[in-house]
Amino acid sequence: MTTKANNQVCAVCGGELQATTITHEEKRDSHIYLFQNVPAKVCTACGEIWIDEEVMQQIDKLIEYGVPIRKVETPVYDFPRAVAPAH
Ligand SMILES: [Zn+2]
Repeated sequence: MTTKANNQVCAVCGGELQATTITHEEKRDSHIYLFQNVPAKVCTACGEIWIDEEVMQQIDKLIEYGVPIRKVETPVYDFPRAVAPAH
């Protein structure tokens, strides 16, 4: 997942970019914000996802001022504790 890129060619591999929409996950402090149907470009060769700088700026504004359509609970696991056998 890489931000910024306004060109039509993947900056990682030079592959062709295809316009699509994705569900974008943005982490701020201990909160995770989900954005559905975000316009993005995906590389048809390596699968890298590119989001335009202006879209990222809109996401920043939504985190501060936007009204979410709904909220979801996010399960959190502490890995060593979660895999340890229960006593
Ligand atoms: Zn690529």
